[in-house]
Amino acid sequence: MGHLQQLFRLQQIDTEIREKKQRLSEVLQAQKETEALLAARQRAETAVATLQKHRTQHKQLTDELNSIVAKRKRSEQRLYSGNVKNPKELSDLQHEIESLERRRSTLEDQILEAMIAIEEAEAEKETAESELTTIENEWQNRQAYLKEEQHTLALRLHTLAGERQKCISQIPEELLNEYQTLSQRKNGTAVAQLKQNICQGCRLTVSEQQIRDARAGKKVHCNNCGRILYSG
Ligand SMILES: [Zn+2]
Repeated sequence: MGHLQQLFRLQQIDTEIREKKQRLSEVLQAQKETEALLAARQRAETAVATLQKHRTQHKQLTDELNSIVAKRKRSEQRLYSGNVKNPKELSDLQHEIESLERRRSTLEDQILEAMIAIEEAEAEKETAESELTTIENEWQNRQAYLKEEQHTLALRLHTLAGERQKCISQIPEELLNEYQTLSQRKNGTAVAQLKQNICQGCRLTVSEQQIRDARAGKKVHCNNCGRILYSG
């Protein structure tokens, strides 16, 4: 294998390494939780908290209602017991019973509202959790593919690293240095293939002389982009 051919092989290896590394970084990025998944989880958590809040409220209102009902019962028993003779005390008892009755009515309305709120919160929780399950399942399925791709990419990159090592050991140091300098200046592509008189690095037609030299196996640079031309 001539040095130019080896240099072109090195270019192919480096191009593939660059592409595989780019894809690997995308694959790793895609394994993070998506916005949709995070939003669905947030919605489900909010729904659970809202339901809990309404249930607590319902319990507090019900407890208060029970205590009001019991208190009114005691006051009524006392009022009708015949033991209270003092008109002021009888009048106070009657007022207290009326006041408790008003409070009871208000509480019953609030309990009804709380029950409606609980029903709505339960429906929202169910919807949110079902949506979260769907999104989580899709995400999990995708993860399996991504893990597999990550593994394949890692193996390929390992192989390429070995091939690269072997390849550069056969290229003269001076040529290798030129390749590396050019590669840095030309977005990672130092060697361009010459196909139908067109440099594949810049897509422009190169001169007749350069085509002849490249075909003869001489090291020539594209007169447009400066890359080393390879006619293989
Ligand atoms: Zn060119």
